[in-house]
Amino acid sequence: MAFIGRLTRQIAKMLLKKSLRHQAKNELRDLNLWDLGQNASGHMSVGDTDLVDLIEEYGSPLFVINRDRLVKDIRMTQSALESLNAGSKLLYSYKTNCTPGVLQVMHEHGVGAEVISHYELWVANKLNVPADNIIYNGVNKTDESLKMAIEMDIFSINVDDVNEIERIYRIACKMGKRVKVGVRLGLMEKSQFGVEVATGEAMEACRKIIGLSDRLDLHCIHFNVTSNAKEADTHIHYARKAIRFMHQVQRATGHYIPYLDIGGGFGVATAKNMSATEYGFYRVFGYLPRPPALSELRPFSESIREIRDSIKESCTTLGYDCPKIIIEPGRLITSSAQMLLTKINAIKKKIDGTEFVITDTGRLSTTFPCDFEYHEMFLANRPADKPTQVYQVMGRVCTAADWLMKNRLLPELNRNDILAIMDAGAYFSSYSSNFAFQRPPIVMVADGGVTVLRKEETFEHLVAMDCIMNESHSFPQSGKLAL
Ligand SMILES: *Cc1c(COP(=O)(O)O)cnc(C)c1O
Repeated sequence: MAFIGRLTRQIAKMLLKKSLRHQAKNELRDLNLWDLGQNASGHMSVGDTDLVDLIEEYGSPLFVINRDRLVKDIRMTQSALESLNAGSKLLYSYKTNCTPGVLQVMHEHGVGAEVISHYELWVANKLNVPADNIIYNGVNKTDESLKMAIEMDIFSINVDDVNEIERIYRIACKMGKRVKVGVRLGLMEKSQFGVEVATGEAMEACRKIIGLSDRLDLHCIHFNVTSNAKEADTHIHYARKAIRFMHQVQRATGHYIPYLDIGGGFGVATAKNMSATEYGFYRVFGYLPRPPALSELRPFSESIREIRDSIKESCTTLGYDCPKIIIEPGRLITSSAQMLLTKINAIKKKIDGTEFVITDTGRLSTTFPCDFEYHEMFLANRPADKPTQVYQVMGRVCTAADWLMKNRLLPELNRNDILAIMDAGAYFSSYSSNFAFQRPPIVMVADGGVTVLRKEETFEHLVAMDCIMNESHSFPQSGKLAL
């Protein structure tokens, strides 16, 4: 056992050296990549807005959205899609960042909504998203949510399992409505999503829908197969399979499916998913993986053109009319426009030299994606300082498992310094939990002005559904009565 312990420490030491080399020549040490700057006080800034001032005013931790960057990334995505055929659609994946103030910017620019739950559908409805610009995906659709989607007459309900077909049909009959449906293909091994193609189940599902065409209109085939993809090859691979399947449906039934929804998963340059090996090494040895190289990312405009060309080619080969393309990006649009600021509460040095930094975020409350993704980190009050020290950046929850980032190379830190975690616009606020603390506020910076999109949670908010704390609740007043 002692030997294994020694060996592990040796390996960890070796890997740390390697990680520090990577971190030292890191291409991401450039605030311009996020359209941020450094002002006269030497602080990080969004336009004229000083990020240190923001923390003073709104407290820590704090999510900050750079509106200009958000709009820039929306426009970049839209202009890349101009190369697709007319009638193609762009929908934002709500679960990636379900902040109504962010979604509203998206919808003002004509981007639609891709929802995966009754709650998200309700938000889209509240935000007045045109029904024709909403798609409902998801593995667990309740009857109530289906009813709402059918009532709203949304663009597509994408079936994830055959049981949904009968439920949609039954509700449609009851309501006297016609419903546009899609089928999500289960194209990947070891993935619970969609209807299996290889066993013939997907074909059965399509036949079933076509057989119920008095109420149901099969108009879309869907897949969603990757995350933060830097290249187009995965989308191309599965799009080929999907087109082949659509062609088979047409041959078998005579029914033409006019839309192919290729999901999301398009990547950004400044964050990356850890590979399985990197993840293992990070967990076991604290080896923070190599930051992404900027050249790894193929620009979205090129990726989407490649995907389009490959789809066209498959269609030409098969003699299938080219379908209109739907995309549902999340990360691509919001990742880089949002950051998380966190104040340092304490710095502790252990006898072996390890230095722990205690912050008020962490993977168990606010930075879950940092668990399996590489994210850049700056010292917001002194971003130009040279990184010279290795820190274990920890969270605020009372467990050793609440780290934010292990073995991170940073400038020498002091209490009350402020760290900025970049690319916090995808899966940070939506994954946040209120484990022992309130969830942080979210503010948006635009034209030198700051708008609060979401206030910090209050204690009252956290107990609002607790019956013994709220005598006015109309549902069971006491636990005993409920039994
Ligand atoms: C999560 C999800 C997306 C968006 O994924 P990103 O990686 O954020 O682009 C799109 N479609 C479906 C069905 C999803 O579940």
